[in-house]
Amino acid sequence: MNDQIIDNLNSILERISNACISSNRNPAEVRLLLATKTVSADRIKIALRAGQTLIAENKVQELKEKYDSLLDTPHTNHFIGHLQSNKIKDILKYGVTCIQSIDRLELAEKLHQRLSAEKKKIDVLIQVNTSDEESKFGVHPDNVIDLIKEISKFETLKIKGLMTIGLFSAETEKVRACFRLLKNIQQQVLALSMPDVEMNELSMGMSGDLETAIEEGATIVRVGTAIFGQRNRPDSYYWNENLS
Ligand SMILES: *Cc1c(COP(=O)(O)O)cnc(C)c1O
Repeated sequence: MNDQIIDNLNSILERISNACISSNRNPAEVRLLLATKTVSADRIKIALRAGQTLIAENKVQELKEKYDSLLDTPHTNHFIGHLQSNKIKDILKYGVTCIQSIDRLELAEKLHQRLSAEKKKIDVLIQVNTSDEESKFGVHPDNVIDLIKEISKFETLKIKGLMTIGLFSAETEKVRACFRLLKNIQQQVLALSMPDVEMNELSMGMSGDLETAIEEGATIVRVGTAIFGQRNRPDSYYWNENLS
């Protein structure tokens, strides 16, 4: 079991490095993020001890449950799930340094109020729904720029880039179109040179499509299944409002 995680991790690192080579990118530009939903703290630690440093949960509840057990193993925590406003107070207790799933002004505003009260700042990515699927969260591509303009006024939220979940499809070119759209939006935002907006990070690509994402400019790939194995809970539990 332990060896399996290490083997899987090594093959993911190799896939990342091959994708970087074939798209003429420096492997140092692409970070691996471990998507750890449903994975126990003990199993996460195997990957951390093997040299990984960046992990992310989808639910505040899971973040909380694993927090104490992971304290003795150095790592950085991002958050990649749908964040409900009533969980904001909670999420700030568990050392999350970047929330990748900011997709609405109301959420950003509440987060800002809470952070101001606690005299804290946090990195954020704007989650974009590039696949036009109702089951996925994220701001509509047409509304990204307006949302960023508003959020950039909150000095507690440091905008670092964009995140997306690509289309689930065996047709690579359809998946690629999602990633290309995210890159395109990044370029549009950069062209506006908005104050207090950084756009270096593109968080895109998962177990099944990380090569395509790297070819299209990903700086963070988020991998769960290909390292920790199949989850026994469907992703709709994490991604679909109606079921979560
Ligand atoms: C679960 C999850 C991932 C990882 O997906 P895998 O297919 O298991 O690699 C990436 N991003 C988000 C937002 C997730 O919820």
